Amino acid sequence: MNPNRREFILRSSLAVAAGAIGSTRLFAQQPAAGAAPPVVPQFASLRRNVGTFFARGGTMGWLVAPDAVVVVDSQFADTSKMFLDGFTPMIGGRKIDVLINSHHHPDHTGGNKTLQPPVLKIVAHENAPGLQRKQAAAQKSEANQAYADTTFKTTWRVDLGSEVVSARHYGPGHTSGDAVIFFERANIAHMGDLMSHQRHPRIDRPAGASIQNWLVSLEKVVKDHNADTVFIFGHSKAGAPVAGSSKDLLALRDYFGAMLDYVRKGIAAGRSGEEIVKGGLPAFSAHEGQPQLQVAYDELSAKA
Ligand SMILES: [Zn+2]
Repeated sequence: MNPNRREFILRSSLAVAAGAIGSTRLFAQQPAAGAAPPVVPQFASLRRNVGTFFARGGTMGWLVAPDAVVVVDSQFADTSKMFLDGFTPMIGGRKIDVLINSHHHPDHTGGNKTLQPPVLKIVAHENAPGLQRKQAAAQKSEANQAYADTTFKTTWRVDLGSEVVSARHYGPGHTSGDAVIFFERANIAHMGDLMSHQRHPRIDRPAGASIQNWLVSLEKVVKDHNADTVFIFGHSKAGAPVAGSSKDLLALRDYFGAMLDYVRKGIAAGRSGEEIVKGGLPAFSAHEGQPQLQVAYDELSAKA
């Protein structure tokens, strides 16, 4: 079946199952000129009980199997309510066995507290809760947080009967607390913000990001999986797919390769950060957003 058609049918049937996501939301009116588009919650199934949810912020992942319920990331407080509206009927009164945070950013953890009543355990990389606390203090949003109670340094894994879920940290990338979450039997990996599709990636240097290690990590992730693996992207350009293949990961690797090459040459030629930023990355002008060339400059010109 045409994947778009399949997704449409799935969304429609989930919308029927989830009474709260009514047809008015699925077929929202056109926004007035200049107004922010309405948030349209979208559930989509990938395969073997694993799927995605998107409203606003980072793409969420989920597993709803007869013997296990897992959620990856929680978006924001308001959109996590939309998620629960649709998800609660899907799990039929069961608990969420595990909520895994791919990293600490507020569009991935802002709904942790909303999801907390049905959640039995929150898992994240060991650096993520500290970064989340620091971020909450800066935004004075401490009262709205829920933090991981289970953390890991390199790998974490749980056997849930019909599915095995693991998480792996590849060193600093988008932050210093990123995890790739793998549904092993479905062969689906949630990349968190280590994957930004057709969109200039955000590089959170104050939170310990490293473009150079991020590039290497993308290659390692591709080697650790196979040609059939479906990768869920933390962010995609508006209208682009939220999941894809290792080719998309390698495209981001090549983006970082081009970025580092351009900035290294600029530094070698004695150009300032400002001049380098002005040059842009014209080869990637179709990407959404702006390239963080100043961050690349800071990383490459930092004293060891
Ligand atoms: Zn992020």
